[in-house]
Amino acid sequence: MESAEIRRRWLRFFEERGHTVVPSASLIADDPTLLLVNAGMVPFKPYFLGEAAAPYDRATSVQKCVRTPDIEEVGKTTRHGTFLQMCGNFSFGDYFKEGAAKFAWELLTTSQQAGGYGLDPERLWITVYEEDDQAERIWRDLVGVPAERIQRMGKDENYWDMGVPGPCGPCSEVHYDRGPELGPEGGPAVNDERYVEIWNLVFMQYERGAGEGKDYPILGDLPKQNIDTGLGLERLAMILQGVPNLFEIDTSRMVIDKVTELTGVRYGASDHSDVSLRVAADHIRTAIMLIGDGVTPGNEGRGYVLRRLMRRAIRNIRILGAAGPTVAELTDTVVRAMGPQYPELVEDHQRIETVAVAEEAAFLKTLRAGTNILDSAVTETRSGGGTVLPGDKAFLLHDTWGFPIDLTLEMAAEQGLSVDEAGFRRLMREQRERAKADAKSKKQGHADLSAYRQVADATGTTEFTGYSATEGEASVL
Ligand code: ATP
Ligand code: MG
Ligand code: MG
Ligand code: MG
Repeated sequence: MESAEIRRRWLRFFEERGHTVVPSASLIADDPTLLLVNAGMVPFKPYFLGEAAAPYDRATSVQKCVRTPDIEEVGKTTRHGTFLQMCGNFSFGDYFKEGAAKFAWELLTTSQQAGGYGLDPERLWITVYEEDDQAERIWRDLVGVPAERIQRMGKDENYWDMGVPGPCGPCSEVHYDRGPELGPEGGPAVNDERYVEIWNLVFMQYERGAGEGKDYPILGDLPKQNIDTGLGLERLAMILQGVPNLFEIDTSRMVIDKVTELTGVRYGASDHSDVSLRVAADHIRTAIMLIGDGVTPGNEGRGYVLRRLMRRAIRNIRILGAAGPTVAELTDTVVRAMGPQYPELVEDHQRIETVAVAEEAAFLKTLRAGTNILDSAVTETRSGGGTVLPGDKAFLLHDTWGFPIDLTLEMAAEQGLSVDEAGFRRLMREQRERAKADAKSKKQGHADLSAYRQVADATGTTEFTGYSATEGEASVL
């Protein structure tokens, strides 16, 4: 079943069951606490929080999402992409656990001829929150899932909150058994690659108080109990299309094939090159979706997420052997792959391509200039028997060639070296202080713009913390 058909069936199923179909919102979250939309419920947050009255009791959507924390998983696991489409059904004080569980089971297991997805019910496993007896009873007694395929999980996996006082509640997840080739039996509690999670049902049930992490008091029941669910369209496509990972589903495979064509590296040639192919295809697709929604490359926030994705894609393509520009052709492919579902990409093709190609050109220039310097620094370090690239080399690369430290770190790591980051940061600090002192002494005379420029450069490219501060992760590039 094609991705487009999965999407159509989803919306039709829930529309026929009284849900209002809501189009995907932009990836740029209308929410100051969030850089990018990372779940289907984000556009509905004001209703769940009671900040606005929901104009419907039931809604359904297929929402574009970007998950930057999953960037390191891409290509390594079979089931994490940076861009995903989350199919959701939502109840605002209407149906609750029983309704949500029954809808999920019906849609997944109804035959394809009858409009469902036709999954084999014996391959479905359910997890419930360890204290949620009610959910377990519903799955077992009302839906008819055998007790041995229902597992209890702790707060880390099966409890939802938003990190602040407000609604919270247990989750229940549906997993699909992809078979013994992927590991031993035992259910999702022991193996999340074989028993891949496809659908998360969140039961917003309680009001929580303040506290760190998952350590907070439950203040009582919410006045209105809500349902928020999310099914990964790409994960279901992977199962229904019988492919081993979500980079090989219809829409993604087109992009991998293009990277293959541009680099001459066959998919399946080696595990190592396959990871590079998947990373390149995944990241370029996400980048194009972001540009499509109006993000432009930059050194902060979403602009930096975009820049980092593009740089990782381009570097992987170079590692695979394509030295020249490839982004224009890849943009065409992504627009062709995603256009049928997102016609705005087709309309905006020219603008998207212009932004993407300009970023590629700038980055290729940086790479060309800096790579030789880096390589000779690596050779020098190695021949002296060292394993740590000196801080002054990283500083030179940054100062003269515009290499962000993250790039130096990653490229040195590829050659088996670490980098004296402390030394690098000390030199950056010293440069900043010099520039400051310079600027001060020249304040009386004519303005010397180069000093200001240096300060701006230094702070602009190295003191960026927004990305890691917002997402709580190390930035690699
Ligand atoms: P996982 O445990 O596999 O990382 P999750 O628990 O983080 O998934 P949820 O936040 O529950 O995922 O999101 C709802 C659904 O979205 C998941 O059940 C899955 O089908 C899908 N999904 C989540 N992350 C990704 C991703 N990085 N790529 C593709 N699909 C995803
Ligand atoms: Mg996850
Ligand atoms: Mg999970
Ligand atoms: Mg989940």
